[in-house]
Amino acid sequence: MIANKKLSNLINDTIREDILRTDAYPISSSDNYIKLDAMESPYVLPEEILDHVINNLRKIHLNRYPSTDKSKLTRIIKEKFNIPCNSDLLFGNGSDELIHLIIQSCCKPGDAVLSPSPSFVFFEMASQFNHAKFIKVDLTDDLQLDICKMIESIKYNLPKIIFLAMPNNPTGGLWNDSDVQSIIDIAPGLVIIDEAYYAFNKKSWMNRLHELQNVLILRTFSKIGLAGIRFGYLAGNPEWIKQINKIRPPYNINVLTESVILSVLDKKYILDEHSNQILSNRIKLSESLREIDHIKSYESYGNFILVRFDNSIIAKNVFNELKSNNILVKDMSNSHSLLSNCLRLSVGTDSENRLLIKTILKIIHKK
Ligand SMILES: *Cc1c(COP(=O)(O)O)cnc(C)c1O
Repeated sequence: MIANKKLSNLINDTIREDILRTDAYPISSSDNYIKLDAMESPYVLPEEILDHVINNLRKIHLNRYPSTDKSKLTRIIKEKFNIPCNSDLLFGNGSDELIHLIIQSCCKPGDAVLSPSPSFVFFEMASQFNHAKFIKVDLTDDLQLDICKMIESIKYNLPKIIFLAMPNNPTGGLWNDSDVQSIIDIAPGLVIIDEAYYAFNKKSWMNRLHELQNVLILRTFSKIGLAGIRFGYLAGNPEWIKQINKIRPPYNINVLTESVILSVLDKKYILDEHSNQILSNRIKLSESLREIDHIKSYESYGNFILVRFDNSIIAKNVFNELKSNNILVKDMSNSHSLLSNCLRLSVGTDSENRLLIKTILKIIHKK
């Protein structure tokens, strides 16, 4: 090391300039809060399933690397999630890792990655970290896909990858089939359909996957009750999967994750029951929100609802007051010009949602 060089100078001269300017992904501390900010499932696994999980965990050899043979995991996931038999799967430490791998395997520095905007922030972060050029195509004022602008931008920028989160986070919308098909038809590279929230609307492109040469489907266990284990999968033609698999870090899925997934999938009905419960909670929550003055809520196909308040004072006030009442939601108001005065509310248990509504009403009527 150069003698006497100050650490801060050394860091500034060594770390990439764009990383120095970037803030770490903000995750608020949430101990003891009612967590309605991150689209987790509010339901824990029942005792008898936990017992099954723990019994299987006992059999694991923690001194060994994970097995490289993923054929059992692949077979079970394909079976349980109706994935076309001629597709292959790639597993990631969360779908975040898969998003990295997709971009790394396709993009040289400066190659374009395109997505509607606002959408999942990690598409942009992963593009930036991997030196790709991220192109955002704004949604319409009412937060729908602007298909004309999408087509125009795809033709102009020729993106290697197009990310479509369906349903879209944070807006909750689901793009219509013919628009998505027209994007697939003109895409010069890959289209990644991110179905992180498929369990809450029952609409999926999965059964069409085998007909679509340039489409891969991304899924995660994070929103269906297992956010803590970090597991996602990418489904598609084996030829695509084979290429992307080359840059996967060896042993990226740890033994605990794989075991928990297999144990829980023995009792998959519990995941389905919880997802259906969340879906019906969302419908109730959205009805209650619609009756409140000063709030516009957007139609959602996920386990969250985006709401817009009349003005920024009410939005800020509701966010802060909820927080002082121990309810954590996500403030979206500064994240995008189309999301001014917006909060994103994850769907909780029925009683959590009732408390949320009651608290919002109290805050608004105090004014
Ligand atoms: C939450 C979310 C994910 C999940 O990422 P994980 O790393 O699997 O937790 C992926 N895509 C979208 C659009 C999401 O909202």
